[in-house]
Amino acid sequence: MRQYIIAGNWKMNKTVSESVQLASDIVAAVKDVKKTEVVIAPTYLAAAKVADVIKGSNVKLAIQDIHWKDQGAFTGKVSVDMVKEIGADYIIIGHSEQRQYFHETDETVNLKVKKTLAAGIKVIICIGETLEQRETGVLKEVLGLQIKGALAGVSAEDADKNVVLAYEPVWAIGTGKTATDEQAEEVHAYIRSLIKEIYGEKIAEDMRIQYGGSMKGANAAGLLAQKDIDGGLIGGAGLKADTFKAIIDAAE
Ligand code: PEP
Repeated sequence: MRQYIIAGNWKMNKTVSESVQLASDIVAAVKDVKKTEVVIAPTYLAAAKVADVIKGSNVKLAIQDIHWKDQGAFTGKVSVDMVKEIGADYIIIGHSEQRQYFHETDETVNLKVKKTLAAGIKVIICIGETLEQRETGVLKEVLGLQIKGALAGVSAEDADKNVVLAYEPVWAIGTGKTATDEQAEEVHAYIRSLIKEIYGEKIAEDMRIQYGGSMKGANAAGLLAQKDIDGGLIGGAGLKADTFKAIIDAAE
């Protein structure tokens, strides 16, 4: 049985004080949640304070991206050791906004994934196709390249325990357009079949694959009821405790 994982990606939203408030609201809202793994990803600036707020609760900390180098002249970036020190449980890697606006490639995703896993932190690896890729019939090819690229050199043990995939069709992110339950399930099942090709049946069955793209309380139950959908990576609906909790309730 795969445990559901619901993760709120706060992107470039919330000041430090607003982040502390939202984290406290979420801690209170989910205190009785037992079955679902709950994760929040504030900005770098707020992450250390949010880590203090969630300490001892059932909410885990994710960081939105790292650089793969240990240190040095990389203005604007943070290293894995910096986020490890504040207690990051997960790092989100390869988000489509990183790919679209900040030159993220399958190669840099792979460097970041390996760096994160070597530090003993788990990864949420984002993959997904644009509308044009879907409409021109190259969806499977695109996902295959993204997955094989991201996981190159990742051990079976890490793949089994420390990797979560997030399937996020780019056309559904922040647009209010959600993939239908069937559309999402078809792709999740395909992704699982690719994992089976790479790592075999057991790891394919163990690996969690989140859906992301305008997930909210109203559509979460249908998506989460699908056999191969194991949670959600949430943008907009993760910015308020009640809308985030509504999705967690659907998972519980
Ligand atoms: C995301 O960016 O990961 C995301 C899924 O955003 P939204 O829920 O706002 O579509």
